[in-house]
This record gives sequence, C-alpha cells and structure tokens, in this order.
Amino acid sequence: MPHHSRGLKDPKQQSSEQGWLFEVAPPPWEGDAAEEPLAEVVFPSGPEGEWTYLVPARLAGQVEPGRRVLAPMGRGDRLLIGYCVRVEYAVPRGKLKSIRQVLDEVPLVPPKLLALTRWLADRYLCPWAQVLETVVPSAVRQRAGTRLTTLLSVPPDVSARLNDLKLPAAQTRVLRLLAQCPQPLTPRQLAFEAGCTQAPISQLRRKGLIRTEHRRLSRFEPQEVPSPPDAPHALNQYQQAALDLIRQAIQQRRHEVILLHGITGSGKTEVYMHAAAECIRQGRTVLVLVPEIALSTQIIQRFLRRYIGRIAVWHSMLNLTERLYEWERIASGQVDIVIGARSAVFAPLMNLGLVIVDEEQEAAYKQDSFPRYHGRQAAIERARAARCPVVLGSATPSVGSFYNVRRGRATLLTLPARAGHSELPDIRLIDMRRVFKKKNTSTFSPQLLIALKENLERGEQSMVFLNHRGYSQYVQCYRCGESLVCPECSISFKYHKAEDTLKCHICDLRQPMPEACPHCGSKGLMHKGLGTEKVFGQLQRYFKDARIERMDRDTTTRRGEYRRIIKDMEDGAIDILVGTQMIAKGLDFPGVTLVGVVSADSIINLPDFRASERTYQLLTQVAGRAGRGDRPGRVIVQTFTPEHPAIHAACTHDYQKYYDFELEMRKAGRFPPYTRIVNCIISHEDQQQARDLAHLLERLFVAEIEAMNSDRYKGIMGPSEAPFYKLHGKYRWFTGIRGVSLNEILAVVDNAWKKLTPAEQRCVAIDVFPANML
Ligand SMILES: [Zn+2]
Ligand SMILES: [Zn+2]
Repeated sequence: MPHHSRGLKDPKQQSSEQGWLFEVAPPPWEGDAAEEPLAEVVFPSGPEGEWTYLVPARLAGQVEPGRRVLAPMGRGDRLLIGYCVRVEYAVPRGKLKSIRQVLDEVPLVPPKLLALTRWLADRYLCPWAQVLETVVPSAVRQRAGTRLTTLLSVPPDVSARLNDLKLPAAQTRVLRLLAQCPQPLTPRQLAFEAGCTQAPISQLRRKGLIRTEHRRLSRFEPQEVPSPPDAPHALNQYQQAALDLIRQAIQQRRHEVILLHGITGSGKTEVYMHAAAECIRQGRTVLVLVPEIALSTQIIQRFLRRYIGRIAVWHSMLNLTERLYEWERIASGQVDIVIGARSAVFAPLMNLGLVIVDEEQEAAYKQDSFPRYHGRQAAIERARAARCPVVLGSATPSVGSFYNVRRGRATLLTLPARAGHSELPDIRLIDMRRVFKKKNTSTFSPQLLIALKENLERGEQSMVFLNHRGYSQYVQCYRCGESLVCPECSISFKYHKAEDTLKCHICDLRQPMPEACPHCGSKGLMHKGLGTEKVFGQLQRYFKDARIERMDRDTTTRRGEYRRIIKDMEDGAIDILVGTQMIAKGLDFPGVTLVGVVSADSIINLPDFRASERTYQLLTQVAGRAGRGDRPGRVIVQTFTPEHPAIHAACTHDYQKYYDFELEMRKAGRFPPYTRIVNCIISHEDQQQARDLAHLLERLFVAEIEAMNSDRYKGIMGPSEAPFYKLHGKYRWFTGIRGVSLNEILAVVDNAWKKLTPAEQRCVAIDVFPANML
C-alpha cells in the first residue's frame, strides 16, 4: 500500500538533517521472528507514492537505498523499474510482494543526495521518483560510453614460480612479459606486445596461469588542461576578513548562509578560491554553482587553471560519455571541486565542506521545466544537510537574500572596495526625452557618441549594451497599424537583417520578410524597436575604422566563437563590443573604460513584480564592466525614465537606499519576500478549456483555503491570461496563490491538484517560487 503520496506529510519525515531516514534499522535482537527486511520503492513510470516490498533472502544486502530494482506492480504483476529509497526491519502488514531483481551494482545516488531529492520533491510538489529520474543522469543509468573489457594479469603465486614452469617457448615469453607489466593488459594488447597470436594466451588462461577479470572502462579521453596555471593573488583587508569568517565556519563544520556582497570588481572570485583551498586542505570537497556556463567562462577557466586535474565541470553540454566519466570521477573521490550550472547541485560529491553560489540573484538558477526547483535553494539545503557553510556571492544580491540578512537568517559580508587600484566608474544619466525634443531621433545621444569617439582616439576599449538581439523588435504596418506576430506564440516577430528573416524568439519559428503587409497589402512596413544587429550596423557607419564586434546568442552559436570574442577583447583586438546580457555579466576586461547603455528601460515595464529589481541588477552589472583596470571607467546610461528609483540607485551606487525602497514596495504589494508564491501555469490548445481549467483551479483553491481554517494571510492570484498568452501553439492562463506560510499554500495547491483528473493534471504545471510570471 502506498503510505506516501506527493506533497506534505509528517514534517518529521522531511528532515534530511539527521540522515536517519536512510539508515537500515538494526536487525531485531529479541527473537522477534516476524520482523523482516522491507524495502520502500518509488516508480518513475508507475503510480505515485512509496510502495513496500519484501526483500527476498537471495537479494539481502543487494537491495539498498539508491539502487534501482525490478518489482511487480498491480494486478497483473507487471514488472516496473523503481528506485529503492529505504530499507528497514519491520513486521510486514498484509501480504507484500517481493522484489524480483536488483539492477545496479552500486547505489546511483548516495544517501545525502537521496535526502536532497526527497526535500526537492516535497518543496516543489513533484513526484519523488521523477525527481530521481531527472537528477540521476541517463548516462549514469545506462552506463553510457563504457564497455566491458577483459583484462589479463599474472597472479602473484604464478610470478613467484615463473622459472620453474615448463612451458612452450611462446607461452613462456608471453607469461614473462605480462608478469613484468605494471598494469593488466587486454588480450589484444598482450598479443601485440608479445608479437604472437591469441593461441598461447588462450593456452595460458586455460591452464590458470593468467588471471582474467572483466571491468567496465570508459572510452572517454579527458581533455588537456588549460594553461597557464593560475596562482593565488594576495587579498586586501576586506577580502581577508570575509575569508576568515568563511574559514571559521568550514573549520567548525557549521552550517551558515553567508551573503557575500562585493561590488563589481571587488574580487569575489579570489575569496571563493581561497576558501575552496582552505576546505580542500581539510580534506573536504567544494561545490561551486554558476548561473550559466556560457556566461561564466572566465570564472570557470580560473578555477580550472588553479585546481588542475582535481576539478570537474558539470553542465548540460556534456555528452553521455563525458557525463558518466565525470560522475564516476566525482563519486569515487578523484575530484575536490565541482563547478557547474544549476544541476551540479546534484553532483555526487562526498564529504562536502563548502558550497558557493556565484551571482546568486540570477533567474537562471530557477529551472523553468520539470522539476521546477531553484538551484540556490537546493544548494542551501544541500549545505544544511552537510553541515557546511554556503556562500551566496553577488554584486547585486537578490532582494530575498538581502531580506534574509535583515531577519538574521544569513550573515552579510561586504567587499566595499574594488580589488587592486581601480575605482567604481562615474555614471552619467542621459534623459532621452530631452534628446528627442531637439528632433534628434538617433539611437545614440550626442554624449555617448562623443565619449565613444574619445575612447577610440585614446585607444581604449568600449562596450555598448542593449537587451535585445536581432535587428528590430517588431515590424509594424504604418497604414493599418498591425504588427507581424508569430502564429504559434502571439508574440512579435523579430527581424534579423543578415538572413532577411522574421524569427520568433520563443519557438524559433522563421518566416521570410514579406514584401507587403499581410493584413492590408500596404508596402509600408516599418521596423520598430532596436536590436543589437541594428545598433552594430549604426556604429559601423559612425566609426568606419573601428574594430567593432557583436556578442549575443546569434553571433555565438558556432562553437568556440564566444571564446574567440573574449580572447580578442582580452588581447585588445576589439575597440567596441556590442552585446546583450552576455556582455553584461561576469566578464572582466581591464581595458574597458567606457560602457554605454542604449536603453535602461527595456525591462522596467515588464508585468512582473521583479522588473524593478532586475533593472537595478542589470544596470549595476553592466556599469561594473567599466574601469576594472588601472584607468578610471565611465558609464553613460540612456533612459526615458531617469527618475525611476532602480535606475537612479544603480547610477549612484546606493544599494542600501534601493533595497529599502524595494522592500517597502514589496511589503505594500504583498509580494515576496513578505509572501511566498505558488503559481499554476495552465496551458491548452483550446482557448476555452484553458480558461475553464484556470477557473476550476481557482474554485478548488477557495474551497481548500476555507477548509484549512487558518487565519494566516492567503490570497489567490488570477485566474488571468498569462502575459505571454500563447506559446508554442498553446493558450496559457495563470492561477496562483500567495501566502505567508509556505506549508499552508503548498498544502492548498497539493490538495487542489489531487482533485483534478489525470488529463487536467497534465495541463497544469506547478511553479513554486516562480522566477518569472510571463
Ligand atoms: Zn497593413
Ligand atoms: Zn513562436
């Protein structure tokens, strides 16, 4: 019988800290013969919940948490693959079926990770078995890229009497050669080395003079290590103070959430690296999370060059063979540091001593498909179970993390000065309303153009930032006013000039640019809204001799192109780099002394309560690219809303004031961090059905809230059409709930969800702590 279903049950059982969940209870000593080993199993493609099975005597010792088993299910006893999650001695209640077979030689998931997946399942309302299925890479389940290899060696007792053996000459030669080999050889290698056929080798094996073993070997050839090696840098007083506190927590094996707020260029990475080195010295391992591999090349390269050979990079671009190779290297203790994106939080590191989450505010840490977990939250939970500190690093901490510091749930460490001699750049706001009043409708204000020109004359590098790629943001007919929209997504097509194509940035649908308006036949189609492609072209016309490059997702699709641009920037072979978010974050080019922001307003008007926070963070990040070397930097920000607090605060480097303002707004609007949100995304090909389901959920929520009989605040959000109303051909609705108690709103959603039919459930995605509401 299932006695666990998805969601919240006995809170004591959810504790992963004690680890008792996964320990096998001792065998009974009081002669209570009725107690037997029982296994709890969850099935990824079977009914939800935990199911209890008998462990037959022939499988005793093989059935253990983290290994997969084959077990009968249902009336027909169909055999299903499941994960054993617990083994304990107990008196079986009722008639239980037996496990038939154990599929893995070793647990695929170590106990602490198993506990983490259970936490994730409860927290994000996902079936546990399916979480396991996504956490354990399919490469590991299939043992991808390995082959069973036969290895030959000479047993010690045979080598001892090598001279006494009477053998034909060929066999003697083979045996002597193999005995001298430091490692076992395959039959082919041995025949090659000895210059013989397989015949004498087979004879020796038959006589028992050669030992044969079978091992799984990886076909993977590790890549060369990057060079040159990176040496530790000296720390300034602020970095040193931060390191001391982190080191203390590591030494005392104390779980602590540490928010490392370091202004751009303050040397957070160096603090991470010193802390990691300390942790490794104590014989423990380090987990480093970065928001996106593509945007974190520089920090990853630095780690790779400093911890040569003892580090693994974990990311979604690994192929199956590489993935299994790295997984086994990590699981077998050959790796001290794992660095990677979100999913690296599940790397099978043992003896974890430190967790680092770089750029903790990034939305990329939230997975936007099943299971919709937050990498930062999972990292904190993992550190808690390992009793070690977790360092959340950022120049622009999330409002939530800042709030946790205020409430005493996290410790704040500040790096208020830039490392080395550099200073924060001067930021100048340009009010584009004034520029437009002078009948100047150019993309660039005179101030930005002059600054770019000056920089070129001085031979210094500049960056120009814009949040949109492509040529134009939408194409509009000036006669009828209609714009060209993706039929699948109800979102404006973006025009890409190089290919003369309309592209949907959501579903990637492409269409040729029409000659005339499809609605009225007019030839007057206008390009509205700027993209990097257009800005790039304009800059080329302004500065004919300058070396200008563009960096966005369109120009970096070819492998190696991103690295090439970074290298050219580092070598000073680029004068002006135009780009999207890709150039805004994490990059460190000491030669850049000017950053131009074409429009600071691009995200501020999005219908999302975090739009202001994102604007502040992005502006601060972009501005932080300027003046990281010896020469001072300046930043020119063009905007139509210079009075907006987020824009203003970013330009005055006044983060304290900004967070105070933002927290006030959130409190007044009952938004996180003062409440928690669980959103349900309803999507359906049929408009009416999507709408009906959204309203059904609302009614279910209301009923559950009434039944709960608690007076803690809970409010229903929606049902409403999603801002992106149609995506990939499906209509989307939101019905959400927010409240002060996470457990209460999770219970409401979970109970409501269970009242839906399976067909309805398939149309609803539950998003706990949504990172965006678009
Ligand atoms: Zn028209
Ligand atoms: Zn589309």
